[in-house]
Amino acid sequence: MATNISATGKSLQTRIEDALVHRIGKDKQAALPHDWLAATIYTLRDEIIERWMVSSKAAHAAGAKRVYYLSLEFLIGRLLRDALANLGASEEVGAALAAHGVDLAEIEEIEPDAALGNGGLGRLAACFMESLATLDIPAYGYGIRYVNGMFRQRIDDGWQVELPENWLAYGNPWEFERRESAYRVGFGGEVIGDADGKVTWAPAETVIASAVDTPVVGWRGKRVNTLRLWNAFPTDPIHLDAFNAGDHAGALAGQVRAESLVRVLYPADSTAAGQELRLRQEYFFSSASIQDIVRRQMQYHGEIRSLPDKAAIQLNDTHPAVSVAELMRLLMDDHGLDLAEAWDMTRKTFGYTNHTLLPEALESWPLPLFERMLPRHMQIVYAINAMLLREARVSKKLDDAAIAAISVIDESGERRVRMANLAFAGAHSVNGVAALHTELMKQTVFADFHKLYPDRINNKTNGVTPRRWLLECNAGLTGLIREAIGDGFMDDAEKLSNLARFADDAGFAERIKAVKRANKDALAAHLRNYMGIRVDPNALFDVQIKRIHEYKRQLLNLIETVSLYDQIRSHPERDWVPRVKIFGGKAAPSYHNAKLIIKLANDIARRVNSDPSVGGLLKVVFVPNYNVSLAEKIIPAADLSEQISTAGMEASGTGNMKFALNGALTIGTLDGANIEIKDHVGDENIVIFGLNADQVAEKRSNGYNPREVIEGSRELQQAVSAIASGVFSPDDPDRYKDLIGGLYDHDWFMVAADFESYSDAQRAVDRRWLDTHGWQAAAIRNIANVGWFSSDRTIAEYAKEIWGVM
Ligand SMILES: *Cc1c(COP(=O)(O)O)cnc(C)c1O
Repeated sequence: MATNISATGKSLQTRIEDALVHRIGKDKQAALPHDWLAATIYTLRDEIIERWMVSSKAAHAAGAKRVYYLSLEFLIGRLLRDALANLGASEEVGAALAAHGVDLAEIEEIEPDAALGNGGLGRLAACFMESLATLDIPAYGYGIRYVNGMFRQRIDDGWQVELPENWLAYGNPWEFERRESAYRVGFGGEVIGDADGKVTWAPAETVIASAVDTPVVGWRGKRVNTLRLWNAFPTDPIHLDAFNAGDHAGALAGQVRAESLVRVLYPADSTAAGQELRLRQEYFFSSASIQDIVRRQMQYHGEIRSLPDKAAIQLNDTHPAVSVAELMRLLMDDHGLDLAEAWDMTRKTFGYTNHTLLPEALESWPLPLFERMLPRHMQIVYAINAMLLREARVSKKLDDAAIAAISVIDESGERRVRMANLAFAGAHSVNGVAALHTELMKQTVFADFHKLYPDRINNKTNGVTPRRWLLECNAGLTGLIREAIGDGFMDDAEKLSNLARFADDAGFAERIKAVKRANKDALAAHLRNYMGIRVDPNALFDVQIKRIHEYKRQLLNLIETVSLYDQIRSHPERDWVPRVKIFGGKAAPSYHNAKLIIKLANDIARRVNSDPSVGGLLKVVFVPNYNVSLAEKIIPAADLSEQISTAGMEASGTGNMKFALNGALTIGTLDGANIEIKDHVGDENIVIFGLNADQVAEKRSNGYNPREVIEGSRELQQAVSAIASGVFSPDDPDRYKDLIGGLYDHDWFMVAADFESYSDAQRAVDRRWLDTHGWQAAAIRNIANVGWFSSDRTIAEYAKEIWGVM
């Protein structure tokens, strides 16, 4: 690619060597791969800084409205390949390194994953940051710079073991510490009101939030935005009097308490983490971010009242919802606005994105905890709630029960502060992340709010960035598409639709197949090198990678695997399609059943993979430590994408989009964005099975007897009995008794109810696979029709319809 890296007179080769010597302090002979990685990043960073400054100066000069994306999670992954691709500098940098005898691909592979998130919600935030820069929207991401992000998963004897992931062990050359951008964040203490009604909060404890910035480069280097992550420092690093008195631990207690705020990411996905430290983290990063936004407003505009015209703050789920009260506090206590005006401005400034309808995932805090930690915010929450409930009364739209349901304070039982209600009340826009999810928000959790504010709930179907999830992770497919339809799709993913005319082109189908085959070879080599397992790249690669959760139904897939294993052994004469079942995903450390499901996958794998009677027809692989980098290797190699959640429970899913974009066919339920994927790719190019959301709701309320279903299906009965009786766990025959017992008793996730339909769908997949031609045509139609699921489209919708910046 022509020189996209600015010419400074020196060759890139020399600049990388300069960085090695001057910034790292090593010469070429002593340099280790990590040193070359850092030197390469430093060199690129210099280029990025220049564009970064141009971007922020231009936004400032234009007095542009800025978007602030507040998220407790950013699941970024590696950054080098992303920055190289977006700057168009991959070839140039590769050549410069080669001249030093260094392989770019090799150093890319040793960059640690920035895993500051659990799963889909955090990955969405990372895709959004990249799309914001790509669409040239001035934006900041705000979050926490966790020292230990998502844990590293090791599998020991089939069990998940959690280890700390030290992603900062070699330093992080991407980030810039901004010690000058620091704010005090208080906790506890008391609120003092004087005779004129002026309120002062005197916190008992204060920590310093200090900014650490990472540049986010948009596609074609158009714009560079900032991801600002907060670090924590004690206001008083050491109590010298205590130290001198010999109390060394006590002298450093403040340090420990501050650092604990940024020590770890809570490894819970779709489950509320009900810990005091979690609320401290939420307030810490919310307060620092809101103070930073207000500071920027005052610095650039000199007055506070235009804030809603200059700032759009988006809350990624309720984790930053306390920001609503924090902005109110600053507007009233620091800027002297009255309650009504502050409330009006606050609501104009915030948008809130909901990510889950699972009741156990809706955050709420015991009122005494909230009041003790944030006494001023408690007063503000009461004041907000009074305005909200008064408005509801006056509207006459809600009865008493509905008014109790929208209250920010849950009065049933132990009193709690409901963060979703605070976020809903404090935002002018509340969005779901797929069409079905948004409908269900209106019908279920937010039904009463929706009656009161019928225009507030809106849909923004999720998307993924096609840079990382196609161009970077699948060079083979990208090259082939460019040859076929030119480069237009690289700037506008919806232009992938031009590929549709090749769906029935036998020559093109052959080449698509060859690309997939090369990706499968690469994955097979990876599995052999890292796990010592051999898989046949001719087999159908059937993949379910995502967080392990009962609603995502890895168990349904595993039971079907056992059933297939039984059938292959009973009918070896049939024309079975060879399959490799690939699983990957982490379980929350406290989620017992999820961890048991991981063990079950490994127990089944051990048994099946060592059984000569299934020959090469079935292999089961649980790949440890699923993360972004592993997803980038596995997804391009997948033939079949498992998106089999209980209908009504997956808000959107984004894994489903990545697979389709890489030419996998989906087997899935009518849940989340699967429904919209089906609408885009066409009914013939996706395999849908199972109950829909209405049918699930209907079964749950009208009584459903899973025992009857299990006993009525020979295949299901045999498979679950085998698991429950210890066929796969002879060392502990009762290991899965309770897990399977739960299916007989209540089966909340409708595993039994959907089994037969799922199993039939899998056999339909087999038949389609045998029609090689038809399979390739469907794969091409998937790629051609999922450009709409680009996060560029999603962000453009947020920008126009929520933020008013496009
Ligand atoms: C995309 C992605 C997810 C989300 O996957 P779902 O299948 O939508 O749950 C989770 N983790 C990683 C690493 C991802 O890349």
